[in-house]
Amino acid sequence: MTKTRIEAINFFAQRQNMELSFSFIFSSGNPGPKIVIIGGVHGNEPVGVEAIIKIQSQIQNLKNGEITFILGNPLAFLEDVRFISSNLNRCFVKDYPKDYEGFRAKEITDFLRKYKPDYLLDLHSVSIGNTQMEIHKNKNNIVRCLINQNFMQIVVSQKAMKGSSIQLKFLENTMGVECGNHNSSTGLSVAIFKIKQLLNYFKMAEFILEKTVSSSNFVAYELIEPIIPRLEFKFTNPDIASEIFVKKGEIYAKSKNGDIAASVDSYILMPCPNPKITDTDAGFLAKKIVF
Ligand SMILES: [Zn+2]
Repeated sequence: MTKTRIEAINFFAQRQNMELSFSFIFSSGNPGPKIVIIGGVHGNEPVGVEAIIKIQSQIQNLKNGEITFILGNPLAFLEDVRFISSNLNRCFVKDYPKDYEGFRAKEITDFLRKYKPDYLLDLHSVSIGNTQMEIHKNKNNIVRCLINQNFMQIVVSQKAMKGSSIQLKFLENTMGVECGNHNSSTGLSVAIFKIKQLLNYFKMAEFILEKTVSSSNFVAYELIEPIIPRLEFKFTNPDIASEIFVKKGEIYAKSKNGDIAASVDSYILMPCPNPKITDTDAGFLAKKIVF
C-alpha cells in the first residue's frame, strides 16, 4: 500500500457524506447512472481501496451520474486480516451472523436496497499468484462490453458463493473482480482499469483504455461447489494450483475425517493450501462453460 491503513481509513472518514459508515458519494452534479464501487470487503486485500483513492483525482470531470465508494470491512482492513469473525463476502444472506461482519453486511445491504445502483463493482485481490478474474452471478448478468479478454471468467452458482455481495437478489448488474495479487502493481492498475471501463460504459467519463475488450479467447468456468475446509485439510497435490483437473471420484484432498473425492469431473479453482477451519471455502470445483 502506498498509504498506510490509517490514512486510507481517514480518506473515507474525511469524505463521509452519507448514512452508511466508511462510504461517500461522489456526484457529477448531473442526473445519470448510479454506480457503487466496493473495496476492502476482505480486510487483507488493499487493491480495491487503493484504486478508489487513486481514481479520485481522475474523476473530477465526471460527466453525469454519481459513484458511491464503500470501504467494505473497515475493522478487518485496519488490522490487515481477511475478516474479524465471519467472511463478509458470505454474509449477504437473510440470516446475518450475529457478529461484526453480519452487522456490516446488513448495513451495506440496507443501503443498496434503498439506493438501487445501476451497477455494483466489488474489487478483490488474491494472496497466491497474480490471478485476474471476473466473477458474475449468472450468465444473463454478463455485459459483454465489460469483459476483459485477458481474464478468466467465472460464473457462480447460487450454492458455490452463497452470500457474496454480487449475488444480492435485488441487484441486477454486478461484477466481482479479482484484480491480481494484493501487493502487485498490476493488481492496482487492473482495479483502476475496471473502474474506468465501467465509467466509460455508462458514459460517465471518457477514459482512454489501453486494453481491448473482446468476447472471444478466454476461458470461462461455472463454479459447481465450494471445497469445504475440514480439520487438518490438505490438498494431495503439493503443487496445487488453479485450473488443475480432477476426475470424478479422484481424491484431491485429505482431512482428519477422511479422503475428499471429486463429485464430478471438474477443475479446482482458487485453491487455498492452508485454509482456516472457520473459512467458508478452500477453493471451488468448477466446470468449463461457453458463453
Ligand atoms: Zn476477496
